[in-house]
Amino acid sequence: MSRTSIAARKIRLIMELRRAGIAETGVLSAIERIPREAFVPPLFQDQAYENRALPIGHGQTLSQPQVVAVMTQALQAGRRSKVLEIGTGSGYQAAVLSRLCRRVYTIERYRELLQIAEQRFAELRLHNITARLGDGHKGWPAQAPFERIIVTAAAAEVPGELVDQLAPGGIMVLPLGRPGREQELVRLRRLDTQVVEEPLGGVRFVPLVAGLPTEAEVSAAAQPGPGLESGPGPGPEPGLVATGRGGSSLA
Ligand code: SAH
Repeated sequence: MSRTSIAARKIRLIMELRRAGIAETGVLSAIERIPREAFVPPLFQDQAYENRALPIGHGQTLSQPQVVAVMTQALQAGRRSKVLEIGTGSGYQAAVLSRLCRRVYTIERYRELLQIAEQRFAELRLHNITARLGDGHKGWPAQAPFERIIVTAAAAEVPGELVDQLAPGGIMVLPLGRPGREQELVRLRRLDTQVVEEPLGGVRFVPLVAGLPTEAEVSAAAQPGPGLESGPGPGPEPGLVATGRGGSSLA
């Protein structure tokens, strides 16, 4: 893609996000500054600025820009926030957050995805992101507490250890629900004596999976199949798709 065509597509996407209700200029300018094409596999370069989720291999997806924008805006992260992300994936969401926050910690369970993401952070000189391999259910106790936590894979229930690692007054944004079923984006606030939950609309995410991938899972994921080679197919593709339920800005 030529530079002018990237610039034009980027402007079109930003306008689409505005129309969808993303009003925070900080969020919009972070999305404008991070080159999404750097996080997209070669086969999908021409779709880097389409408002859709894209496959990144291992059956995982790079989230739809609108969902990244909605989640980032809902997180209300500020210059001084220390943020934990669960599900590094391509690294795109972490990169967007890195322009808004003091520091981003991010955890991924696939070594290969983690390594590619770390390489991108280095190339783009995003030095305030620290990534590691692990099961995000456990959070990152050595770096807790976090003012903000964002989970980019769906769990059936709020992982308790993540709530424990949220600072007082902290906010967590996460999709809740079972894979393939209706999922809801939820914002949690940790107050003095209680945790308050607020629904933000329907979404579709890949599942938050416990533990690290087994050998079999890694070699199966490396085979051609649904994922990088064929792109999102029909049916319930693993992905991150706004369903438009609930009348939120995701619609
Ligand atoms: N935020 C990503 C999109 C992530 S897709 C981006 O911007 O590209 C969800 C990611 O969560 C996948 O890479 C998946 O491997 C990862 N994941 C799923 N369960 C996990 C767990 N328990 N711990 C850490 N990462 C997990």
